[in-house]
Amino acid sequence: MRRRSAAACAALAFAGPLVACGPLATPSPERFHPTRFDYEAFRRAHPEAEIGEPNYLPFMAGRFALRGKEEDLLVLCRWEVTRFPLAVHVEAPAVSAELQNEFDRMKEPNAFVDAAWRALESWQQALGGVVSFRRVRGADDVDLRIRLVGEVGPAPEEGVQVLGTTPMRDACRIGGRSLWKDRVEVEYEVPEIRIYVADAHGLLPPDQVERNVLHELGHALGMHGHSPIPADLMYEVARDRRVDELSQQDVNSFRALYRQPNGTIYARLPRGQDLPRAAASAPNGPAQLAPEPFVDPRNGYSIHPGAGWRAIVAPRGVIVIDGLAWDYEASFQVIVRSYPSVASYLERHGDAHVRGGKVAQQGPLGVAGRRATWMRVLPLEGDMIEDHVFVESGDGRVVIVIMEAPKSLRNDFTPWFDAMLGSLVVRPPGGLAAPAAR
Ligand SMILES: [Zn+2]
Repeated sequence: MRRRSAAACAALAFAGPLVACGPLATPSPERFHPTRFDYEAFRRAHPEAEIGEPNYLPFMAGRFALRGKEEDLLVLCRWEVTRFPLAVHVEAPAVSAELQNEFDRMKEPNAFVDAAWRALESWQQALGGVVSFRRVRGADDVDLRIRLVGEVGPAPEEGVQVLGTTPMRDACRIGGRSLWKDRVEVEYEVPEIRIYVADAHGLLPPDQVERNVLHELGHALGMHGHSPIPADLMYEVARDRRVDELSQQDVNSFRALYRQPNGTIYARLPRGQDLPRAAASAPNGPAQLAPEPFVDPRNGYSIHPGAGWRAIVAPRGVIVIDGLAWDYEASFQVIVRSYPSVASYLERHGDAHVRGGKVAQQGPLGVAGRRATWMRVLPLEGDMIEDHVFVESGDGRVVIVIMEAPKSLRNDFTPWFDAMLGSLVVRPPGGLAAPAAR
C-alpha cells in the first residue's frame, strides 16, 4: 500500500510544480478528550448516519496534525471493506527454554493458535459479518499476521505488563484531501499484532490469551484509542480483568466505524489542544418528559425519562442520563430489589447508600401514591449531591431511585428530577409487553 501511494505521488508531481507531495497530515502524539458536545455536533452534521447508541465512536478516531496549518484532525480510519475477508496468519509461539519446563498439555502451542482463532471468530460473529477473516497457512500474501510470542512481554514500568501490542501509529496514512469536505483520503493497514503468551508467572492460560487477542484485534480493526467504559472489551486495562466478549457499546461502535465513509473527519481542533468544553449546565428551558415511557417489565415499573435524556438499561433497572454514557452531568437511576419493606432493605444495605459520605437530610415522602423514604447524601469528596428515594411496592419489592447532580447545578436539575420521579409507576413485574428500551 505504501508503495502504491508513493507512485501516485510521483505521477502527480509531473502535473506541475505546485503539487506538493507527502502526506496531508501526520499522526499526532497528543491525546484527545471527547465530550458529548463534540459528539452531538458530529451527529447533527451527519443526520443520516446509522450510528447505534450507546457507543464510543469518538474514542476510535486517530489524531493527525495537518501539514502547514495549526490544526489537527480527528479521523475515523479503518480497513477498506473490499479488503475483507482479511487473509490472517496466526503464528504459533516458539516458547523460550525457561518457560518450556512449565509447558503442559493444556498449553501446547496449538492451544494458543486455537485461542487466537476463537477471538477472530468472535469478532466476525459479534459484528454480524461487518468484518471477516480467512485463514492462510503460509506467511506470504497475508493482510494481518498474529504473532504469538513465547516470551514474557516487556514491562515498561513497575506493575505494568504488556501482553499485546498493535502498532497503530502508522496504521492510517492520510494521502490527501477528499472531494468531500468532511473526509480525507486514507489508506489503512495493520500488518501485524503481537501477543505475548507468558507473564512473570509463566505461560498464560489460553483463554487469557484469547481475551488479549480479542482486545488487540479491536485496535487492528481501526480503534485508535480506548473505551472510557470499564465493561467494554476496548477499555484500557491489562491482565485478567479484561472482559471476554464485546459489549453492546463495542458492537455499536465498530459497526458505526465501518458504516461511516472511510476517512470521515470526526472533528477539527487547534493544534495540540482540546476543543473548548461548554460550561456544565442543566438542559435549557422548563423540564419536559419524553412522550413515551421507559417500561421495564422485568422489574415492574415505568418512568418517563426527561426529553432528550438517554436511558441505559441496567440489570436491576435503568440509568437515565442527560448526556452520553461516558459524559453526562446528572443521572436518575432506578434499581429494583426484592425486600419485604424499606426498613428491612435499609437495615441490610443502608450503609452502602451512604458509603464515604454523610446523610445531610432525610424524611418520609409520597411517591407514586406509595410510602417512601428519602435521604440526601453529601459525599465527603467530590462535588456531587445524591438523593436516594426508597419506595415500597407492597408486593415484596423496594424500588430505589438515586438522583445525582453536581452541587452547583442541583437546583437547576430539581424540576427534571421531580418530573421523572413523579412519572414513576410501580407495576407487577413480568406482566407487561416487550420492553421499550431506547
Ligand atoms: Zn488497548
